[in-house]
Amino acid sequence: KKPVIAIDGYSSTGKSSISKVIADKLGLIHLDTGALYRGVTWFALQNCIDENGSIDLQKLFSSLDQIELEFRNNDGELILYLNHIDISKQIRTNEVSDNVSIVAKQKEVRDFLLHSQRSLAEKGGIIMDGRDIGTVVLPNADYKFFLTASIDERTNRRYFELESLGIQAEREQVKKNLIVRDKIDSEREIAPLKQAEDAIVIDNTNLTKDGTIDLILSHIKN
Ligand code: C5P
Repeated sequence: KKPVIAIDGYSSTGKSSISKVIADKLGLIHLDTGALYRGVTWFALQNCIDENGSIDLQKLFSSLDQIELEFRNNDGELILYLNHIDISKQIRTNEVSDNVSIVAKQKEVRDFLLHSQRSLAEKGGIIMDGRDIGTVVLPNADYKFFLTASIDERTNRRYFELESLGIQAEREQVKKNLIVRDKIDSEREIAPLKQAEDAIVIDNTNLTKDGTIDLILSHIKN
């Protein structure tokens, strides 16, 4: 039976890009759970804005049943569709990054997304990355990893990632977004960002992407 692997950690530690490569190598499905929270946030920014220009959370909660999130399999990579529209580009914008942690700390939103994450893992053969995968979503995962790196290294990675997507951002703004998100994610009441007791912790500040991948693979028995 193929393994279930949980990868959690701080923002921009490379969780998703590393998980994607490991999925390819081991023949697993890869699910980037951050994309789900970003998708709900994108929906809220389109449909649930109050007169002050902020997200109206009550309106979002009562609109959750209008959200159909679906992953389509593109060569083992799951691409996110919201109500039949590919939103994989929209969810990476600064506007979504600046609002996602407030949306993600809401119980209504987490409950809404929990079921689909768990049901995707039922058959095994999946690597899921996020903040609460090893602690809440898949506490019985076969392998759990928790990634960390220094804030300056993470800022660099995020800055270059945005640049490659053609999204303009100031380095200071990127750094601030990472710090604020990590703080909200770690301090929230429900499913806070933290390492599972049985997770293998990897600080990859001084590791390349390939170095981190090799280290993770060295723990996985085939
Ligand atoms: O992984 P990514 O940086 O795209 O996640 C965006 C945000 O979604 C996180 O900062 C966090 O607020 C939320 N998130 C979460 N639980 C997860 C994955 C992401 O709360 N499992």
